[in-house]
Parts: sequence; structure tokens; C-alpha cells
Amino acid sequence: MTQNKLWLSSPHMGGGEQKYVQQAFDTNWVAPLGPNVNGFEKDLEQYLKQGKIAALTSGTGALHLALIQLGVKYGDTVLCQSFTFSASANPITYLGAKPVFIDSERDTWNMDPELLEQAIKTELIKGKKPTAIIVVHLYGMPAKMDKIMKIAQQYDIPVIEDAAEALGSHINGTMCGTFGEFGILSFNGNKIITTSGGGALVCKTDVAKQKTVFLSSQARDEAPHYQHSEIGYNYRMSNIVAGIGRGQMEVLDQRVAQRRANFEFYQKTFDNTTNILTAPKEPKGYFANRWLSTILADSYEHREKIRLALEAHNIESRPLWKPMHLQPVFADCVSYTNGVSEEMFQRGLCLPSGSNMTQDDINRVATLIKSL
Ligand SMILES: *Cc1c(COP(=O)(O)O)cnc(C)c1O
Repeated sequence: MTQNKLWLSSPHMGGGEQKYVQQAFDTNWVAPLGPNVNGFEKDLEQYLKQGKIAALTSGTGALHLALIQLGVKYGDTVLCQSFTFSASANPITYLGAKPVFIDSERDTWNMDPELLEQAIKTELIKGKKPTAIIVVHLYGMPAKMDKIMKIAQQYDIPVIEDAAEALGSHINGTMCGTFGEFGILSFNGNKIITTSGGGALVCKTDVAKQKTVFLSSQARDEAPHYQHSEIGYNYRMSNIVAGIGRGQMEVLDQRVAQRRANFEFYQKTFDNTTNILTAPKEPKGYFANRWLSTILADSYEHREKIRLALEAHNIESRPLWKPMHLQPVFADCVSYTNGVSEEMFQRGLCLPSGSNMTQDDINRVATLIKSL
């Protein structure tokens, strides 16, 4: 008998979403922007406690607009975490700039501050000051922001936080996405909350938010006719999509709690009893949303054995992100590496982590892995 498919991370509606979508229909705010967009932005601002939010069509678009506002242009270099999803780096190339990749440290699996400083020094000697730094909170674990922000300030390079996977994560109460000059969020289908597709840019000031809204809605000058003095983009979130977001915000804290409970269950099951390691513990003061629960096997062969066994039992799993400095499309980019992300890519696996998994579902995954 084939058991039902267990997914890595599937959408989990709270029930309130349709109310907001219905309101949009009832008032014919299907388009253009409207109360749901404003409401969703306000909800996010309250949740993050600081920053101004512009709701957009994707996290990738948000990153593109952040880079534009930091003045990234043709021929520039941007320092970017290597251990991440390609969307962290792709928008750099939209502007004709080049990513320079930085490897991770072992405590959080995110950008290694020492390598970052080494990269800045070396790039400065080469005669080119990087225009921005993109740091990622991978799988919801906050990066070492105190050290990274200090280095960024010392060399006067602005930071963009890719918090696409880290909504709800924080360090001593400061939410991921609010440390840097800009932060990006994603509400794609597999993220901790979803609007089916969507994203947001976290801005420091209202001026930056207004600029983001302007750029994301075709950069229209104030005039009765259509007039443009700048190149615009069509990146603004729709009022229907934002309605789903408002409903999802009502259950975000529950979603974070459930993902963390999933991780703790895996950790309790594997620690000390198997040769499998779970993702790093949270450093002091850190709070991870545990978007995806991850494990490290002994070796590539061991990892593949687990992955294929799960697949045979109708359970989805996925190797950790393949580092950007190993991606064919970025083969000609400079990188500063230390072996950490390559090792994680070899040994690591993401397990089913959805907040809609039952205790039976998660037992099924854990028991199968333990039996190997
Ligand atoms: C999902 C994700 C993105 C992109 O967000 P979209 O909304 O899908 O464009 C960027 N960076 C990371 C690390 C992600 O996981």
C-alpha cells in the first residue's frame, strides 16, 4: 500500500484568508491596490516592530528593487552569501553587476564574518569597492548579524538581508529583515506563510518605502498623463493576493511554533541515537523559525541512502542548497570559500517540515530514517 505523499513544505491556510479575499470581491477592489495591501503592510510592520513595508509580487523582485536603490549598476560587484537559493544572487546580474560569493561558518550555516572581511580587504586591494552585501538567514536561522553589521559599517557598505526563509526569526527580539538597510521577505508557495506568490521589501524609512512603491508600479511621475523620468517595474502586490497574506498573518505565530516543534522532534529522535546530526542549535539570544528541518549524514553516500529510502516511501526530501560558487551559471564569479557549504551540500538533507504535518506524518519520517 502506498502511503500518502509527504511534502517538504506545503501551503497551510489558516481559514481567515477567504474573508479578506471575499471583501475584495464584495467591494470590487480586485484591482488596483486597495485596503488589503495597506492592511497586509501594516500587519507586517507591527510584527517586525520596525521598518516600513512595501508589498511586492516576489522576494526576487524585492531584492532587485533594493539593489537599484543602493545604486548597484553595470560593472559593480556585490558580496553575496554562497550557501543559498539562486534568487539571492540572480538580481545582481539583472543590473549587469557581478556577485562575489562568500562561504558560511558552522554555527549558523550563514555568511562567515571573517571571510567577509577578508573578501572586502582583497577586493579593495584589487581596486573595486563592493557596492552592497547580501546576507541570508538560511532555513530560518539568523546569520551573525552583530559581527556582519559591524564589518559593513567599518567599510561603509550597505547590507541587504535576504529573510525570505526567516519571517519570525530574531536575535534578542530584533526581527530578521530589520537589521540591514533593506530586508526582503517571500510569501512563495513553500515559505512559512504564503500568499500563493508574493514578497515584500523591508525599508528603513518611509521615503525608501515610497520610492519602492513608485518603482514597483511603473515609475509614474505626478502628472495627469503618463510621464516617466525613470525606468519602472511591475512588481506591486495585488489586493487579492494581499488578502491571503492578511489571513496568513493571523496564524503566523502558530506556524512558527509548529515548525519549531517539528525540528525539536527530529532533534530528539536523532541526537545521541543515530549518526545523524540535526541543524545547529540556536546561539544564545537567537530564535530560528526552523522553516525547514535539516540533517547532516556522515557522507554523501549515507545522505543519498536516506534520500532514496524516503523517496521509495513517498516522502519528499531535498539536498541542502547547492552553493552558488559551484553553480554552472556563476562559474566565472570570484568566491571566497572555506569548504563549509560544499560539505553541507554533500552531507545535508531537508526533511518534510510543513506546519500542517500530523504527529503520525512526522513519526513516519523519523522512524524510517532511524530504521536505516
Ligand atoms: C524563496 C527565496 C527567495 C525568493 O523569493 P520569491 O518570492 O520566490 O521570489 C530568495 N531567497 C531565498 C533564500 C529564498 O528561499
